[in-house]
Amino acid sequence: MTNLVADIADTAAEMPENVALSFAGQDVPYAAFWARVGQFARGLADAGVEPGDRVGIYLPNLPQYVTAFHGVLRAGGIVVPMNPQYKSREISHLLADSEASVVVTLSDLVPFVQEVRDETAVETVVSVNGEADGAVTFEEFLADEVLDVVDRADDDVAVQPYTSGTTGTPKGVLLTHENLAWDARATADLMPGGVKEDDMFLGVLPLFHIYGMTVTMIATLFEGGGYRPVPEWDAQQAADIIESEGITVMHGVPAMFNDLVNQPNADEFDLSSLRFANSGGSSLPIEVMERFEDLFDVELFEGYGLTETAPVTHANQPGERRPGSIGRPLDGVEAKIVDGNFDEVAPVPEGPVDEEETDLDEITGELVVSGPNVMKGYYNLPEANEGAFTEAAGKRWFHTGDIGYHDEDGYFFVVDREKHMIVTGGYNVYPREVEELLFEHEDVADAAVVGIEDERRGETVKAFVVPTPGAEATPEDVKQYCLDNLAEYKHPREVEFVDELPRTTTGKVQKFELREDAAE
Ligand code: AMP
Repeated sequence: MTNLVADIADTAAEMPENVALSFAGQDVPYAAFWARVGQFARGLADAGVEPGDRVGIYLPNLPQYVTAFHGVLRAGGIVVPMNPQYKSREISHLLADSEASVVVTLSDLVPFVQEVRDETAVETVVSVNGEADGAVTFEEFLADEVLDVVDRADDDVAVQPYTSGTTGTPKGVLLTHENLAWDARATADLMPGGVKEDDMFLGVLPLFHIYGMTVTMIATLFEGGGYRPVPEWDAQQAADIIESEGITVMHGVPAMFNDLVNQPNADEFDLSSLRFANSGGSSLPIEVMERFEDLFDVELFEGYGLTETAPVTHANQPGERRPGSIGRPLDGVEAKIVDGNFDEVAPVPEGPVDEEETDLDEITGELVVSGPNVMKGYYNLPEANEGAFTEAAGKRWFHTGDIGYHDEDGYFFVVDREKHMIVTGGYNVYPREVEELLFEHEDVADAAVVGIEDERRGETVKAFVVPTPGAEATPEDVKQYCLDNLAEYKHPREVEFVDELPRTTTGKVQKFELREDAAE
């Protein structure tokens, strides 16, 4: 294989006028896009960036993100994506750890880079939106000439994202050209007929996160489709863009789909241009899936993955799906459920199981995966690498840290992340089960369940609930509703109504924050 961006040269030659990027009413055709990527790559080479060097991209979803990303890869460099919500404290670890020499950012964010520059290897800062002290502008940085694509080997690193880090210091994840190329193609193939040249992907998932990076940006540009960056999530705006710009593919996190169905004028949205919609990043409540499908008449599939697996390992797809399941492993990925001794846990006949009737501890274990999309390892962290992999039967298995079960038809079900499981009075409670029930309550717009300290039981169950506007139910009513529908030990002993849940920009509820709130 060659460099993962190399095929775009063919698209630019064969379909020069086809739209690669569309933003704020302006279309950038492939020929122009690829030329700018080449000029950016040459700019990097002129700035001293050599193959294997790291470049930070610290931007929201903008066309320049896409140009810079492809430019770094074209020059043989490694992209270090950084969340644009981060401040100096947070970027200092990423920059110091990765030793990035160039950072591409917004003029407003340049001061954060300047503040930590002495502690890092940063030599050049590029501002994409005008002048800023200490930075060169994007236009100045582009060279007059283009740089030819630098050859790369399959296992050369292409990007180094840092994991969400809900605990501990963020770790750099080494993803290779093959990891990303393989996963982008495999996810594009889940769509009927793959990516088509007139497809336009909605870019609402942040590009600094692997889900948006691979499944939206790389997957479409790889295959000649278009990408529509959207810098900030707003349900109303997203619906407008889908309708007015004829968006054909939407990937999002459950919180986005939940937001769409909860808009007061949702029944006026016309999302009929979508030919594929997919949710991932955290579990999609069945209730949200059904409401989305009823309202918009578009099937909503669910997939699963992690940063370390570039990201998708499992997916539902047209003609092959099970609501509530993360789907089956992608062709080429192997997955199994193992116990603490790495022995396989047998599948159930057919999922989903009735969680009320089943002893989940009997059928669940940790999900481990092996395949061409599994990362090379964590950057400079031998101990973390040791814990992340198990060599067995000639394969290298990655430990996902997610707890689940599978069935004889090959569908997998995630019940929760190891660290989210609540142990109350000796019983295990999987928050997901309680959350699914809460979502079915008509007065509940959003919900998250955590374990809080309890003297008698060790932990006890607490639910944070965002009520729908005009909701009549009280926290007491919601508690009673759970008691009526769940085993006693699972019901939340505390229910608190809140205005919103703390979420990461990739849609994961920050449960540690909720636990801290509860502790206070
Ligand atoms: P990240 O590395 O930020 O992509 O986070 C990966 C984690 O997201 C996984 O280990 C899961 O805990 C969670 N996740 C992703 N997709 C799903 C899904 N469909 N259902 C449940 N959890 C998911």
